[in-house]
Amino acid sequence: MAISKKSSGGKAKKYVYLFGTKKCTEGAADMKNLLGGKGANLAEMCRLGLPVPAGFTITTECCVDYFKNKMKFPASLKPVVEKALAATERQMGSKFGDAQNPLLVSCRSGARKSMPGMMETVLNVGLCTRTIPGLIAKTKNERFVYDSYRRLITMYSDVVMEKAEGVEPEEGKGIRVQLDGLLQKMKKAKGYQKDTDLTAGDLKKICNDYKKCIRVVLGKNFPDEPIAQLWGGIGAVFKSWNGRRAIAYRNIEGIPDGWGTAVNVQTMVFGNMGDNSATGVAFSRNPATGEHKFYGEWLINAQGEDVVAGIRTPSPLNEATKSEHNAALVSLEKAMPRVYVELDSIQKKLEKHYRDMQDIEFTIQDGKLYMLQCRVGKRTGTAALNMAMDMISEKLISEKNAVMRLAPAQLDELLHPIVDSSAEKHAKLLAKGLPAGPGGAFGQIVFTAAAAVAWAKSGKKVILLREETNPEDIEGMRAAEGILTARGGMTSHAALVARGWGKCCIVGASSVRVDAVRKTMTVGNKELSEGDFVTLNGTKGYAYEGKLAMISATENPRFKKFMAIVDKYRILGVRANADTPADAKNAREFGAEGIGLFRTEHMFYGKGSDRPLFILRKIILSGTTEERRKALKKLFPFVKASIKATLKAMEGLPVTIRLLDPPLHEFVPQDPAKQKELARSLGISAEDVRRRGEQLHESNPMMGHRGVRLGITYPEITEMQLRAIFEAAAELIKAGKKCKPEIMVPVTCDAHELSDQKAIARRVYDETLCKMKMRSIPHMYGTMIEIPRACLTADKMAEEAEFFSFGTNDLSQMGFGFSRDDIGGFMPEYLNKKIIAADPFQTIDQEGIGQLIEMAVAKGRSVRKDLKIGICGEQGGDPASVEFCFKTGLNYVSCSPFRVPIARLAAAQAAISAEKKPKRK
Ligand code: ADP
Ligand code: MG
Ligand code: MG
Repeated sequence: MAISKKSSGGKAKKYVYLFGTKKCTEGAADMKNLLGGKGANLAEMCRLGLPVPAGFTITTECCVDYFKNKMKFPASLKPVVEKALAATERQMGSKFGDAQNPLLVSCRSGARKSMPGMMETVLNVGLCTRTIPGLIAKTKNERFVYDSYRRLITMYSDVVMEKAEGVEPEEGKGIRVQLDGLLQKMKKAKGYQKDTDLTAGDLKKICNDYKKCIRVVLGKNFPDEPIAQLWGGIGAVFKSWNGRRAIAYRNIEGIPDGWGTAVNVQTMVFGNMGDNSATGVAFSRNPATGEHKFYGEWLINAQGEDVVAGIRTPSPLNEATKSEHNAALVSLEKAMPRVYVELDSIQKKLEKHYRDMQDIEFTIQDGKLYMLQCRVGKRTGTAALNMAMDMISEKLISEKNAVMRLAPAQLDELLHPIVDSSAEKHAKLLAKGLPAGPGGAFGQIVFTAAAAVAWAKSGKKVILLREETNPEDIEGMRAAEGILTARGGMTSHAALVARGWGKCCIVGASSVRVDAVRKTMTVGNKELSEGDFVTLNGTKGYAYEGKLAMISATENPRFKKFMAIVDKYRILGVRANADTPADAKNAREFGAEGIGLFRTEHMFYGKGSDRPLFILRKIILSGTTEERRKALKKLFPFVKASIKATLKAMEGLPVTIRLLDPPLHEFVPQDPAKQKELARSLGISAEDVRRRGEQLHESNPMMGHRGVRLGITYPEITEMQLRAIFEAAAELIKAGKKCKPEIMVPVTCDAHELSDQKAIARRVYDETLCKMKMRSIPHMYGTMIEIPRACLTADKMAEEAEFFSFGTNDLSQMGFGFSRDDIGGFMPEYLNKKIIAADPFQTIDQEGIGQLIEMAVAKGRSVRKDLKIGICGEQGGDPASVEFCFKTGLNYVSCSPFRVPIARLAAAQAAISAEKKPKRK
């Protein structure tokens, strides 16, 4: 005989938890996983002795079982709900479904993490033909009873009879819209302005009309039995977990589908009983600015949703927070001073208890205050910073708590101007792409880098629009306010550069057709030309037509103070990837403790690169070593100057200098005029130049003749670079400056490559000491780890290398076999279908690539205990990757200068979290 799993193991699940008086309350704030945030906090408020209408919470576990069970309630649920309902009735002194003294309840959703407005709630459950007269007699308020009834009918038919049943009406034909239509028609016929003008008689008639309409539209009767209403409500709340809105929200927020929602069945209290009743929402501090003022909105004679639904303009809570929009309205402080004082003391108590800003919902029934919800309030980055700093001085929280209060991503907001979200609401969306560079920007579109530079010079704000960008666009990108490309991924050139500069950038907006010749862009049948305004929201990846208002990210004086606290608790080092003295300076200002990646080839791009690029081309196209050496000699002073300037800008801090990395053919001139000039200089024909260039062509340059392979085949190139590094350092040291160059050999896969190049380094080092008459020049010799084989042989590599720096862009590329320049074609599908959880070029794939990193760290340190290990891939600025690097024992992460504060915060949070959770075996 098959044994049912349920009966074989352990206790039966407890599906229902009571709340109400202190004594009977079973839940608590730390039970959010089981009771949902709302249920757990309702219980906690009960424990604090606050006025909360009694009720009970059906667990998220029950919801999960309900879905497993093909949307049937577990058999054990019915009796426990009945028992809990009886307990609630005893506390409230009324009975559900009773004709004389009826209890009404609400069925409220509530998941582990707050999903505001994404799921359903039904109010006034229990009103029916039998209970209506009793409630009228009890309250002596017929209008109120019918107002509640029409709200029940509306919510119930919408949520339970339509949405939960999977009925999908045509646009504008939903039952709620139809019922609202009836109400509007009646108001119009009677010449009413407000819902509150409706009389008891009007509302009674409306309820009848509603029920008729439901019968016609949905083909069913509105249930007239309270217990049927209750179970309908509970089921509908469960089902709303899989409603379209809820699913979409979960995808965005990364909330697991398997969590489920709890249902809170709670005694109704009424804010719509007359002018001595009200309902409202409030924050213990201003969620937009962080200002320490009790802040909120309320409505007289209203119920629940009215405040948020925007049916009536809500009034301000108190005099201190009145704005120009609501100055004329009466505050709760003035209208109901006694209730206001009580509410104010409750919000203070809650804040003290939770040690964080509270978002609360309350209702006043006939002058008596009830608390209906509290939770830690959502806030902007600015508000989060201000609150954290205030709460330290108020001794409400510790410094460590404060560090944990800001999401690293929120720092972005503090560092970049952003699009005004209220302007965005009404804007025309032009295209969507990948949010490559954060913040907002508007400007006139231009189609070439040259135009961007020229227009910017004449004082115009421009958005550079390109099919995709290449290194030659760099000046134009610098000059532009923002960058929009039709192709490319999050680690495409444009994205990388933009993030490095903290520039707003959207890439891969594939619906955009760019015609650089006609200077037009088209999206569908919309066409824009050069000079037209667009606005980019780089944080979301949205492009809009026209010029939207921006909010300047005002430099908050507290930012620096906060970051100083962050650094107190940080263990992991944070460096920046920087290629120019200007970037280096920027990085220092953002708190970088060195440069983790200085790309030597950067001097061949952009401003002032004409001459060195010309010489480099000569080197590349040289026919003999002799020719090449001659050209290298000419290039040497440029390389040395570039390195020296950056070492100087980072004085006292380490700078990791990567030897030449890109495939040489990237630098071969395609322009005939340039080819001719080179030919002349080399004393060969233009045809020869073209032919030599063609010989350099590779079918797979990413894995071709590049990195250390260049150094092995052209040792003179390595030699020249090393000499530049040592001499630059020597000269600075002689001038009394401290510098710490770290020589990094790229694209290695075997220790012999390292020993080969090291021999050159030794020789050049000795020669430099001799030439400069010095005893030593401090430096390190190490390698980038970016090929899986380098991880597998890391012990051998560490015999030669004094440091490792993980190049996680290439390591991920080669580990996955995904070309990072070509992921646009399939990555969106991979993410959509959840084939992989996240783009490995944005966050380290800890499951797979992470193992390679862990292995390399362990093997490397087994040979060289003090092996210095860092990461210089783009992921170095991603908070989850930073945490992984900390846990794996890296010494530092390195990222774009603008992400340095984010990495610092993420590193401090990783250290604090690790403290809290000692390793368990
Ligand atoms: P959401 O999660 O969308 O905020 P809620 O469950 O909080 O949904 O319900 C929305 C509003 O309905 C609440 O803010 C409250 O004003 C009102 N409400 C819910 N339950 C009750 C109740 N038992 N008594 C009075 N009002 C209630
Ligand atoms: Mg709520
Ligand atoms: Mg690389």
